[in-house]
Amino acid sequence: MRDLANRLDLCSINTATLGHREKISTVIDAAARHGYGAICPWRRDLQDENVAAIARQIRDARLTVSGYCRSTYFPALTRQELEANIADNIKAVTDAATLGAACFVLVVGSLPEGSRDLTTARAQVEDGVSRLLEHAKKVGIRLALEPLHPMYAGDRSCLNTLQQALDLAEKIEPGSPSLPSLGVAVDVYHVWWDPDLAREITRAGKANRLFGYHVCDWLVPTRDLLTDRGMMGDGVIDLRMIRALMESANYNGPVEVEIFSSLDWWKRPMNDVLAICSERLQTVC
Ligand code: ZN
Repeated sequence: MRDLANRLDLCSINTATLGHREKISTVIDAAARHGYGAICPWRRDLQDENVAAIARQIRDARLTVSGYCRSTYFPALTRQELEANIADNIKAVTDAATLGAACFVLVVGSLPEGSRDLTTARAQVEDGVSRLLEHAKKVGIRLALEPLHPMYAGDRSCLNTLQQALDLAEKIEPGSPSLPSLGVAVDVYHVWWDPDLAREITRAGKANRLFGYHVCDWLVPTRDLLTDRGMMGDGVIDLRMIRALMESANYNGPVEVEIFSSLDWWKRPMNDVLAICSERLQTVC
């Protein structure tokens, strides 16, 4: 397993960790100054920005882009809305290509408001991802399906395990391509509890479908289902064990910190958060 001590160049900062409080240009400079090797911006960071100029700033800061977050949810109550969601994602994939992102992260969505029809939601996700993949291949961007913890099955994601995500990837992009364009992002927050985690990480690695690795920690108790993720080392996830699984499965991409924390870390100064993430990456991840 790689030693992360003094190797912050192997690590990435997902901008959500900093609470989207600063302009993206400020965050890029700060990440580079702290020694991170990569960054993962969100679409909201680039909303009023020139994407090509930001891409240039990231390159000039010698950062790579470990991913681009994230898709608009696919499922919808009408065909028209589904088409609009796919079109929105196609636009985002084009921006991911401009940024030179290693992947575009897919949080696929689940039941649209008012629906109880999970089967249709899943069918729409399959349809939407298939169509997005055609565009992604044209512009050379990989799509990373990120399964979300089952507590989000009602709204944010009808993909809840790594097995489910890999089954979908293999269905949409079959035939064991040597360089697949559809893979998975493994976020410890969502998958740490899964009894089949080792088996599915190994399976994803064999298929070259491990596109991203996100770390934070699971706090006990968790006070908010969305924005109470812990700093690495403050919770109950065996982070070293999971990284060992990832790297045994040939994952050699960045270790990306992604912490949503309205109750704690988003209230702290950006430079403190970057410094503590750096220390924890090198000591407990
Ligand atoms: Zn994630």
